[in-house]
Order: sequence, then structure tokens, then C-alpha cells
Amino acid sequence: MKIAVIGTGYVGLVTGTCLAETGNEVVCVDIDLKKVQKMQNEEVPIYEPHLDVLFERNIQGKRLRFTTSLDEGLSHGDIVFLALPTPEDEDGSADLKYILGVANEIGKLIKSYKVIVDKSTVPVGTSEKVREAIAKNAKCDFDVVSNPEFLREGFAVDDFLKPERIVVGSNSNRATRLMEKLYKPFVRSGNPVIIMDEKSAELTKYAANSFLAAKITFMNEIANFCELVGADVDKVRIGMGTDSRIGKRFLFPGIGYGGSCFPKDVKALHKSGKDSGYDFQILDSVIKVNQKQKTVLIPKIKNYFNNNLKGKKIGVWGLAFKPETDDIREAPALYIIYELLASGATITAFDPEAMENVERKLGNKISFAHGMYGALEDADALVICTEWGIFRNPNFNVMKELLRDNVIFDGRNLYDPQEMKEEGFHYESIGR
Ligand code: NAD
Repeated sequence: MKIAVIGTGYVGLVTGTCLAETGNEVVCVDIDLKKVQKMQNEEVPIYEPHLDVLFERNIQGKRLRFTTSLDEGLSHGDIVFLALPTPEDEDGSADLKYILGVANEIGKLIKSYKVIVDKSTVPVGTSEKVREAIAKNAKCDFDVVSNPEFLREGFAVDDFLKPERIVVGSNSNRATRLMEKLYKPFVRSGNPVIIMDEKSAELTKYAANSFLAAKITFMNEIANFCELVGADVDKVRIGMGTDSRIGKRFLFPGIGYGGSCFPKDVKALHKSGKDSGYDFQILDSVIKVNQKQKTVLIPKIKNYFNNNLKGKKIGVWGLAFKPETDDIREAPALYIIYELLASGATITAFDPEAMENVERKLGNKISFAHGMYGALEDADALVICTEWGIFRNPNFNVMKELLRDNVIFDGRNLYDPQEMKEEGFHYESIGR
């Protein structure tokens, strides 16, 4: 099938590449000339495990190409995916200017029937707005379909190739049939393509993300409470999670959720509720608790240093909002770094993939180490912000040699507190 993907970020590039992998001919369009030139030179512009292999294979196979021309994409694709940003607007709602801007242009450019697929996360009613924006200028038939994306950064390729479910919101049989055909190779093992109306599809995505954000936030509150009453959140987590109604996943406490999705999606659903006269009290609490949780290590650090961080040198492990990505949007590490800098500390950080992105944002406000141990040289303490695999079993002897003081504040509960005590560390984590 002939596919166009508009927007080549984490979602668009993975979508385009994985659709090419099943034999479709895909043209990806992006407004960012530098990014497109990079991709035309066969360079993957983001870090996402396994993407590079598929990317190269499908470019070589001439099933995947890149352009800045929307017209070129639309002339090629019968199915046109919108994988555009929907960032948080000032009032917390999802900003639809990218989606509606492109929809306006699509109306002017299409010359034959197209299925326009909204893959971005958008509030209920956006499909209708997209349809209206296209219809203003369109001289041919088209359908608009809502097809929210559930991939996780760090597992995006796997999630796209083997989705647990695909949600398609459509009121057109013609468009639905095309979407089912396109996705058939991805659900051969029997996972469902769930067909529903557009509004329900749009809401499904927000409901799923908000539920997961609430689950994490609930555990963070339990962890905070554990510290007050002397319980161990690790034990509580296992005790709870073995109940199949609760499940083991998304119960790990830490320094709050971040990333490009949960924070903005929870706020957007909360705002949509408000606009419709519904007060989402749970979401209100989730937003507030998470904001606080991001800097929950700061009082612990300050307390250890008698409220005086001036001149203290802090090593930071992990900058990305989670492991296996270079994405630093709303990363808790950044909030912690801002607070530490404001208190007069200096920072040397290490992250396997996200340092370039942080350097672009923070410039020379912090230093970066070449390897994980480099961040510890003469540091008064280590703060762990992201649970990358390489941090899980470090050489504690090397760490003790490098650190000025054997102090670790762990926002991801990577180590056993008892073992750390035996190793001679002052070790503080979350909820234990
Ligand atoms: P992103 O910011 O990584 O990428 C968006 C891309 O769109 C950028 O490359 C940008 O240059 C391009 N773009 C902007 N305006 C354009 C235009 N007019 N024409 C062509 N290209 C344009 O965004 P993302 O993380 O891929 O997210 C896209 C959407 O998918 C959002 O709504 C997001 O909420 C949703 N989503 C994201 C994830 C995720 O894990 N990142 C998962 C599921 C859903």
C-alpha cells in the first residue's frame, strides 16, 4: 500500500519504518530540513533500539524515503498518517496548531481519495475539526480516522510490530477496511484491531495514559508514606502486585513520571474535562503529586549536607526521562538539576544517550562525563535519576575510590539498602 507519514518524530519515524518493513511504500514528510537531510543520508535522527536496522533495510529496499514536501507525500500516499506534535498549551490543553495547520494544507493539495489518519494524541472532537479543516478546500473525497498510538519510547519498534491492540476510530466502512488491511500483518497472533467511533478512540488514548500516570503516582504516594511509618515499599509492591487485578507493572516508585506524553496528556484530559463541565479530581491530584515527586530527593540531599549545597559537586547518573531513550522532555533529572544548581551545587552528569539533548538545553551550566564513572570524580555525592541497565550492577569499589564521600541518592531504587550499608555507603532511596 502507499503510505505518507507527516511528522517524523518518535511516533512518525517508527510508524513509517515499521509500515515499510511489511512491504508498504512509505514517504515520510517533515518540516525540519536538517532532520530530513540527515534521514536522506541514512542517519537515524533519534535513539530508539532496533530502529536503525529496519531504517537502513527499508531505505535500501526503496520502500522508505524522506522529503520536506507535503505535496510530494500527499501525491504518493493513499493513507496519510498525521504524527505531529500536540504539545501542552499555556492553559494545559493540547495545542492543535500543528495538526490543524497541516489539515488546512491537505485540503488544498489532495487530488484523489485519501484516508487521513490521526496518530497524534488529540482531545475528543479533533477528528471532526480535522475533517472540517480539510473539507474547506478539498475537491475530492476523503475520510478521517482516529488511530491513537500506544508505543512506548525505548520499545517503540517492538510495540509497533507486535501491538497488544490497535484502536481504529472511524465512521467510514471504506476507511476501516483499508486500515484493517494495513494492520493485518501486525496482528497475526490474534491481538485485536478494535474498531470504534472516533471520539471513543480519541479518549481511549488519554484514558490509558492517565490511568498509568495515576498508577505510578499512587505508588509514589505509598512510597512516601512508607518512609514516614517505616514500611518497605519493595515489599508492599510485591505484596500488592501479585494480585492479578492490580498487576505487577507500573508499580515501581521513583521520582515521578516525565516524558513527552504522560505529563501533557494528563493535563490535557483534565482541561478537556473542565471545558465540558467535568472536574477530574483524580487527575488534579495526579498532576500535583507528580510535580512534587520530581524533586522528592532534594530535601534528602539538603538534609544530608546540613542545608548547604554551596560548592558541593554532585554526580548525576541518568538524564533521559526513562532508560533506552534520548528523550529528555519533562525528565525528572532536569528538575533535580535545576534545584541543585539553584542551591549552589555544581553538576557532572552522565547518560548513555541523552547528553547531547541536555547540552543543547543547558549549555555549559553543567559538565558532562565521558563514562558513568567519570561523573563521580571528586563528587560529594551521586544522584541517580534514570534506571539505565548499566547502572544496575556497578563496581562499587571503583565508585568509592572516585567519590569524595560515599553518598548515593537513588531516585530509582536500583540497589539493596542493606547491601549498600555493608558496602559502606550512605544510601537513600524512595520508600525504603
Ligand atoms: P516529536 O516531537 O518527536 O515529532 C514531531 C515531528 O513533527 C518533528 O519531527 C517535527 O519536525 C514534525 N513537524 C512539526 N510540524 C510539522 C509540519 N507542519 N509538517 C511536517 N512535520 C512537522 O513528536 P512525537 O513524540 O513523535 O509525538 C507525536 C504525537 O504522537 C504526539 O501527539 C504525541 O503525544 C503522540 N504520541 C507520542 C508517543 C511517544 O512515545 N513519543 C507515543 C504515543 C503517542
